[in-house]
Amino acid sequence: MKSFRMIKQDRIFCRIGVVCLLTLLLSFGSVLTACAQENAEVYYPEEPNPFMGNWAGRWSDEETVDPVITAQVISLGNDEYSIRLAPQLFMRARPMATIQVQAVDGVIRFDEAGYTGEIRGDSFTGTRHSDGEPYEMTRVVHVPPTLGAAPPENAIVLFDGSDFSAWTDASGWVITEDGAMMVTPDGKNIHTNQKFTDVQLHIEFRTPYQPHFSGQSRGNSGVFVHDEYEVQVLDSYGLPGYYDECGALYKVSAPYVNACLPPTQWQTYDITYHAPRFNDDGSVKTYPRMTVYHNGFVIQKEQEMRWITAWREGDRLQPPPSEPGSIVLQSHGGYYVQFRNVWIVEMDYNE
Ligand code: MG
Repeated sequence: MKSFRMIKQDRIFCRIGVVCLLTLLLSFGSVLTACAQENAEVYYPEEPNPFMGNWAGRWSDEETVDPVITAQVISLGNDEYSIRLAPQLFMRARPMATIQVQAVDGVIRFDEAGYTGEIRGDSFTGTRHSDGEPYEMTRVVHVPPTLGAAPPENAIVLFDGSDFSAWTDASGWVITEDGAMMVTPDGKNIHTNQKFTDVQLHIEFRTPYQPHFSGQSRGNSGVFVHDEYEVQVLDSYGLPGYYDECGALYKVSAPYVNACLPPTQWQTYDITYHAPRFNDDGSVKTYPRMTVYHNGFVIQKEQEMRWITAWREGDRLQPPPSEPGSIVLQSHGGYYVQFRNVWIVEMDYNE
């Protein structure tokens, strides 16, 4: 049997243990937050890359049928770039050329695929081989028209930079110093506490600067409506806009145009969702329909969702949900995707 003194000692040791454990947990928490902040700085540098982004200009001969020329410069890391020359930005335009180049001493020069070009500072100049016609482009920064849109009076604010109170288990998600929510590799999909049917949703997101990654490994996340219908979030900047890329209703419908902005730039989704309707016998009367504006461009219009937006066919063929569902933000391997200014308006469409 223990003496009173021994029990007292045990209690003291126990208290010391608890204090140590708490200190350890708190410092572990601070380490996590510090790491997340560090990653935010690594993946969201203020000046990510001097060449990356949109360029637009004109051929100097203005009498040509379409005098416009544009370029999207994609950073591949190690001073390598992919340049996509096309007649227009934000249109499903056939590229005039796609050129892989290396920057040397802070300048990009190329002479291939029918064009010469030079990017130096804020100027992108070159010529067309076929007739020697010169062109000149300057940088174009597209600011989405609903960026920073204030929630209307009847909106439910899901995230305004202060806390995760509208969401279930947010472990592995952090709030950055500038008030964005960011998924880390420890994060799981995050669900709203509240469930919805017909809605309009505004959400802003940005993808990290990870030039060495490609395809589905670049800033993969997603915005799910009614638990099941994913509007893909991905760094698809300068890509064709396929059915698994940014703006796609994943594996159901490719975006009309690839409206992606370069990584680290804030982008917007404005989504309208009509929930499915059912007959009295439980059969589907109307499938869900989605309209999506990406950075102000309509990329999905009243798209009927005959399938769930899952990766596996078996899952895609499941019937639409008959109960209200959450908005879900996807953790897809922890690509440090950020979200902010998330709000929703409950609607009651006639049908
Ligand atoms: Mg995804």
